[in-house]
Amino acid sequence: MTESLNRIRAFLADREPPTPCLVVDTDLVAERAAAVSAAFPGALIRYAVKANPAPEVLDAVASTGAGFDVAGTAEIELCLSRGARPAELAYGNTIKKPADIAFAYARGVREFTTDSAGDLANLAEHAPGSLVSVRLLTGGPDSVTPFGHKFGCEPAVAAALLRQAVEAGLRPGIAFHVGSQQPDPAAWEIGIATAAKVAAEAGVVLERLNIGGGFATEHREPVPSLTDYAAAIHAALREHLPEPELLLEPGRVIVADAGLIRTEVVLVTTRAAADERRWVYLDVGRYNGMAECENEAVAYRLEPVGVKGPQGPVVLAGPTCDGDDVLYQRTPCALPRSLKAGDRLDIPGTGAYTASYSSVAFNGIEPLRTYCVGRFADAG
Ligand SMILES: *Cc1c(COP(=O)(O)O)cnc(C)c1O
Repeated sequence: MTESLNRIRAFLADREPPTPCLVVDTDLVAERAAAVSAAFPGALIRYAVKANPAPEVLDAVASTGAGFDVAGTAEIELCLSRGARPAELAYGNTIKKPADIAFAYARGVREFTTDSAGDLANLAEHAPGSLVSVRLLTGGPDSVTPFGHKFGCEPAVAAALLRQAVEAGLRPGIAFHVGSQQPDPAAWEIGIATAAKVAAEAGVVLERLNIGGGFATEHREPVPSLTDYAAAIHAALREHLPEPELLLEPGRVIVADAGLIRTEVVLVTTRAAADERRWVYLDVGRYNGMAECENEAVAYRLEPVGVKGPQGPVVLAGPTCDGDDVLYQRTPCALPRSLKAGDRLDIPGTGAYTASYSSVAFNGIEPLRTYCVGRFADAG
């Protein structure tokens, strides 16, 4: 990882791109994708494109033999344009129009996830014979950025959908997602145990178990390693459900550590005589890359570039005229007391869910620009 940061910093020093920008090391992306494969031998790896859809990132992932978890027609086109084979795509979004399903099927996609009778009927009609995994709502520990109740159905409903899938000539599977940035490996155990019960209740032999993504990456707090996650998951599989072919949809764990955002300080000021904290306004905020600062969910590390000396507490905010564009006011943040407008900050660990979450032109600010370094950088 040091090597990767060196490559990124050398690029920034050499090219001095305008800030804010995200620099992604594609070598580390490939390394992480390979590490997921190594931790789950024999499993199908489908990188969740929404985490970071940069073409160079997709190429780095594909070089390891992994495929892609896609959420709609544009992501399907993107992956195919990078040379992915349709059989390597899994359409993981349970919310889709009949026309989206027909589009995917016409392009050769044969693997889908569902969680409702309406969507299942559409799949039976527009994607006949496909492998369809029913997404469970598993409960269990909350992740840092949970899915809430938006996706998945409870076990009894899932069992009914599985039977309907088989009756409609579809190939049955079960899927779940424990929530993104999930620090507790026990969450997967609950999902796997629930999947086993649902399959037994439905009397259906599963062809697929899709255990989603969710693996956490380190920011300020330590997180389990891929090996820790894999050990817990393999133990649960041996105990509850060893048969079906395993599929994973990791996003964050493949790309987060490979990215670094460089930002410039726009203003440093105090706002109240009684509050010693300075307000530090950056040229990156909630709307151009730091979306996961919503509710201060992800606490990124902040590294001043070439500014040293004693530190003091700060509130960190973005550049727009929106009151919600404050990154951290409860999360403790300290920056050098000498920090001033024009200084630069690096925010490491920002390869996932940053550029892809950027608004198009809120307040006229352009989406976060991505630059790639490493072996796959010139492929774009
Ligand atoms: C977002 C998403 C993922 C990726 O989750 P990570 O936490 O980034 O690993 C996987 N599968 C589905 C269906 C998703 O929506």
